[in-house]
Amino acid sequence: MIDDKLQTVLDQVLQRNPGEPEFHQAVREVLESLGRVVAKRPDYLDQALIERICEPERQIIFRVPWVDDKGQVQINRGFRVQFNSALGPYKGGIRFHPSVNIGIIKFLGFEQTFKNALTGMPIGGGKGGSDFDPRGRSDGEVMRFCQSFMTELHRHIGEYTDVPAGDIGVGGREIGYMFGQYKRLTNRYEAGVLTGKALFNGGSRARKEATGYGNTYFVQAMLGTRNESFDGKKVVVSGSGNVAIYSVEKAQAFGGKVIAVSDSSGYIVDEAGIELDLLKQVKEVRRARIDEYLQLKGESRGAYFIKAGEGSIWDVPCDVAMPSATQNELTGHDARTLVANKVIAVGEGANMPSTPDAVRTFQAAGVMFAPGKAANAGGVATSALEMQQNASRDSWSFEQTESRLAEIMRTIHDTCARTAEEYGAPGDYVLGANIAGFVRVAESMRELGVI
Ligand code: NDP
Repeated sequence: MIDDKLQTVLDQVLQRNPGEPEFHQAVREVLESLGRVVAKRPDYLDQALIERICEPERQIIFRVPWVDDKGQVQINRGFRVQFNSALGPYKGGIRFHPSVNIGIIKFLGFEQTFKNALTGMPIGGGKGGSDFDPRGRSDGEVMRFCQSFMTELHRHIGEYTDVPAGDIGVGGREIGYMFGQYKRLTNRYEAGVLTGKALFNGGSRARKEATGYGNTYFVQAMLGTRNESFDGKKVVVSGSGNVAIYSVEKAQAFGGKVIAVSDSSGYIVDEAGIELDLLKQVKEVRRARIDEYLQLKGESRGAYFIKAGEGSIWDVPCDVAMPSATQNELTGHDARTLVANKVIAVGEGANMPSTPDAVRTFQAAGVMFAPGKAANAGGVATSALEMQQNASRDSWSFEQTESRLAEIMRTIHDTCARTAEEYGAPGDYVLGANIAGFVRVAESMRELGVI
């Protein structure tokens, strides 16, 4: 249900942004939560504040030409959506995936604005990417693509303007190539312009681990509210990229038994518990498909591979589910299977991985549900810590950085829980995250006047 005045705002968004279903979905979810806020604080409807929050400050679309290993010219499309800079420079990752389009980048930038607000740090929201597919491309091709992408992007970013980071398809290698090209074009060693850099280029310890660790810290705090913990729990993590791998690592450190992971080719189950070193070898070193895990492990009881399209990773019974691949990967049907299999908690490592039907199903069944904009905020929070280290030309230890991350995740958890309670919906982390994030952005925008 959505308040009448907010429905008018939503109608405008739908009309102004046709053919962008993910963006519509993200806006609808936030507006659905704001009914309780405008009931208490009708002044938030003044000065088109909510309409302005739904409209990106700037959208940049550009051509990315590059030459492949065969000497053929390839063309991709690049995007950067600078959504909201009320709280600080735009901040948010860059995604390289063939599915990328302006609607997906807008949904991600919109989510990012509230997520960044929730961290309590001085960062605005943005997102970028390209429909380039790095899979199967040589290092040289990836480098030439990144250099061409940055040749245009560098005009629009800067440590006080917009600070991109990684996302799907963009890890340390790609950030390195982009930072190299930025430095060359600007003749400035401006370390604070990108985060997720290598350690010797001004990167932060624990940044790589931060999103997965952060989600696990959030879920641990949420489990704690019902006197539960990861200890002895069966855990399923979808994806096997940056967020998934470090969710597996931390869930195991907390005593959980992770029994399944996936990629776009399918999922593997290992009833004995996923062997983390083997998973890292397959994904971080060999950049291979997930079934190679089983080839390297050899014959083993309770270990098998299911091809994409022949089953869902959410068919695997578990106590804790951590969707960490991509948007709308967990459907209402999957959620009903998980509920029937007695899942107790869901922590979204990815952005908007659960469909609206899935979220409703979890909440109606009393499953503890942590939405991505709160649960996966550890990545961007640690990026902000990287910016702090760059600004002070300092480099913190792993322990110091991780303990800041743990503290930030605990604060985000408590803020969401407290806000949900204050607005009459205890335990509803979706409502808590949306309202707490919104209020911070809205208050800051109001101070700045109509801009
Ligand atoms: P990676 O590229 O490192 O890994 C993505 C993983 O998800 C891969 O295993 C990939 O499989 C799988 N995947 C991607 N798209 C699809 C798809 N359409 N269908 C099935 N599987 C898919 O990305 P990250 O781990 O960085 O990002 C994962 C999610 O977490 C995204 O939603 C991202 O926005 C979010 N996130 C990431 C943050 C970060 O710090 N990196 C911060 C906050 C959120 P394959 O290789 O086969 O494509």
